[in-house]
Amino acid sequence: MTNPFLSPSTLPYSLPPFASITDDDYGPAFDAGFAEQLAEVEAIATDPAEPTFENTVAALERSGAILTRVQHVFFNKTSSDSTEATDALELELAPRLAAHADAIRLDPRLFARLRSVHERRDALDLTAEQRYLVERLVAEATRSGAALADDDKVRLRDLNGRLSTLSTRFEKNLLADTNDLAVVVDDVAELDGLDAGAIAAAAEAARERGLEGRYVITLVLFSGHPYLASLTDEGLRDRIMQASLSRGRRGGDHDNRELVLEIARLRAERAELLGFASHAAYVTAGETAGTPGAVADLLGRLAPPAARNARAEQAELERVAGRTIRASDWAFYTERVRAEEHDVDTAAMRPYFEAERVLQDGVFFAAGLLYGLRFAERADLTGYHPDARVFEVTDADGGDVGLYVLDLYTRDSKRGGAWMNPLVSQSSLTGLPTVVVNNLNVPKPPADQPTLLTLDEVTTFFHEFGHALHGLVARVTYPSFSGTNVFRDFVEFPSQVNEMWMLWPEVLANYAVHHETGDRLPQRLVDALLASQGFNQGFETSEYLAAALLDQAWHALSSAEAAAVTDVEAFEQEALAAVGLDLASVPTRYSSTYFAHTFSGGYDAGYYSYIWSEVLDADTVEWFEQNGGLTRDNGDRFRARLLGVGGAKDPLEAYRDFRGRDARVEPLLARRGLA
Ligand SMILES: [Zn+2]
Repeated sequence: MTNPFLSPSTLPYSLPPFASITDDDYGPAFDAGFAEQLAEVEAIATDPAEPTFENTVAALERSGAILTRVQHVFFNKTSSDSTEATDALELELAPRLAAHADAIRLDPRLFARLRSVHERRDALDLTAEQRYLVERLVAEATRSGAALADDDKVRLRDLNGRLSTLSTRFEKNLLADTNDLAVVVDDVAELDGLDAGAIAAAAEAARERGLEGRYVITLVLFSGHPYLASLTDEGLRDRIMQASLSRGRRGGDHDNRELVLEIARLRAERAELLGFASHAAYVTAGETAGTPGAVADLLGRLAPPAARNARAEQAELERVAGRTIRASDWAFYTERVRAEEHDVDTAAMRPYFEAERVLQDGVFFAAGLLYGLRFAERADLTGYHPDARVFEVTDADGGDVGLYVLDLYTRDSKRGGAWMNPLVSQSSLTGLPTVVVNNLNVPKPPADQPTLLTLDEVTTFFHEFGHALHGLVARVTYPSFSGTNVFRDFVEFPSQVNEMWMLWPEVLANYAVHHETGDRLPQRLVDALLASQGFNQGFETSEYLAAALLDQAWHALSSAEAAAVTDVEAFEQEALAAVGLDLASVPTRYSSTYFAHTFSGGYDAGYYSYIWSEVLDADTVEWFEQNGGLTRDNGDRFRARLLGVGGAKDPLEAYRDFRGRDARVEPLLARRGLA
C-alpha cells in the first residue's frame, strides 16, 4: 500500500482521498513531508546562482507539497473527528512542526537570500503580488528571529517547541474536562422549557454515553449555554453554568491553570528575545493594528459604555425577575424581557429554521444572488466522516470555483465552536484549486426528526460560510496568500459581513419556512427581531470585551511581571476590575482556563480581532445598505476588490479600494448602542 499523501490527489478538485486514508498514514506522511521540504529548502539555500525571485521566493512557495497535503487533512481530522491515535500523534507532532518551521525561517542562508531579493526588489521587475510577498516573507522571518545570534536562536527554538506542546496539552485538557463536566439529568421534568428536539438530543447524548433513560447536556465552548435561555429550572441552569465556569480549574488531570501561567511567561520571554516589550507588542506588530496601544484605544473606548449598558440591562432583568439575578439567570430573563417588551420569541422561530432549508435556500441562495455562485451536492465524493457532505461550487458561467464541505453536527470527537478550514489551498503557482470545510456543532436529532437550528446557529452558519466564501473565491498566485491567509485582525471581517444576509428580507423569506406547515416566518416576528437588535448588546459587548481585555492583559506582561503572577483567578479579577468589566452577572465570555482562542487556538493577544474587524464590517454593511443591498453588482465589487484578493495585498489598501475611503468606527458604535 502506498501512502495516500505522497502523491497529488487524482480526485476532482484534488479532494483528499478520504476513503483510503487511515490513522496509520499520518505519521509516515509527516515524516516524508518534513524530509521533502527540508531537502527542497537545502537546495534553495545552497543554490550557487545569484538569488532571484524565481530561484528563492517562488521556489520556497513551491516547497512542502506533501507536508501541506497531510497537514490540511490531519488538522481537520484532529479538530472535527479525533481518535486516540490522532490525539497522541498531534501531541508528538506539535514540537516537531514548530521545529520544522523554525528550521526554515531561521536558516541564515535562506534568510540572506530573501534579504538579497528584498534589497533589490525595485530593480527586479516584480508584480505587485510578488513585491508584497517578498516584503511579507522578510518581515515574518525577522519577527520569527531570523536575524538573531546563534545562541538566541537555540533558545527561541526551545521556547517555540515548549509553547506548542503546552498549547496542545491545554486543548486536550479542555476537551476532556468539557466532556467530563457534561451535565447529567435524571428526570425529564427538569428539562422543562426545552423543545422536543433538544430533549431528544439530550436523550441521544445520554445513550451514546451508556446512560440510557437519562439526559446529558453537553457544554459549549463559551461560559454560558444556549439552553440557559429556555430552561425554567433555576437549579439546573446553575449546575450548567457552574460546570461551564469550572472547566480547567478544579484540580486533577485536566487543570489548565499551571499551563496558563507557563504559557504567559514563555510568550513574554520569547517576545523579549525578539526585541519586543511584550507578547502583545510582538503580535500586534504583525497585524493591521500595529501596536497594543491601538488595540487598547479601541477597547478602552468601548468598555465604559458597554458596562454602563449591561448594568442598565441587569436592572431591567431584575425588575422582571423580582429579585437579584445571577449569571446563570441572565439569558432566561433576557428571553422573557425580549418576549414581553420586544415581542420576540426566539424559541418560536426554531421550527422555521430547518437546517437543509437554511443551507440551500438561505446560505447558498444569498451567495447565488450576490456572486452568481451555484452549489450542487456531489454524493459521489466522500468526505472524512459520514456527516461531512461535499458540494461542488461553480460560477454563473459554469466555471469551476471549488468544493465546499459541510460538517454540521456535534460529536464527542469534535472540539467546540464553529470554524472553517482549508482542505486544499488555491494557488496558480501550484495549480491547485480550493476545497474548504465548515464545521459547526449542532446537536444531532434522532434520524426521524428534522434538524432545527436556533437563531444563533443560523447566525453562525452564515458567519462560517463567509469564511468559506473568502477561501473559495480568492484567486492568488502564491500559496502564502491563499484564501483566508490574511491578517488575523482582518480575517473575521468578510465572515461578519456575510451575517448581514441572514435577515435580509429577500433571503429570509426564501429560507425561513415552517418545517411542518410550510408557513413563512411571520413578519411580526421578523419586525420585532429587527427592532430588538440593540437589545442585550450591553451584555454581549461586555462579555466579549472582558475576554478581549483579559487576553491583552496576559500578554501585556514582561517576562518578569509574568513570573510574578501565581494565581490565575486573582489575575483575572484584577485585570477585569481595572477596566470596570468585573460584573458579577456578566462573566467573561471565556475564562483563562478554557480560553482556547488565546491559549491554544491561535488568537493569542489577538482576541480583540473580532471587534477590530467589526469596525470594517459595520462600515461595509452601511455601504451595502446605501448602495442597493443584495445585488450582483455589489457582490461582484466586494468579490473583485476584497474577497478575491486573499492575502495578496495590504488589507487596508484593499479595503480602501473597495470602500473608496478608510473605515469609520461610527457605524459600529451605532450598531452596538455605544454612541
Ligand atoms: Zn469567524
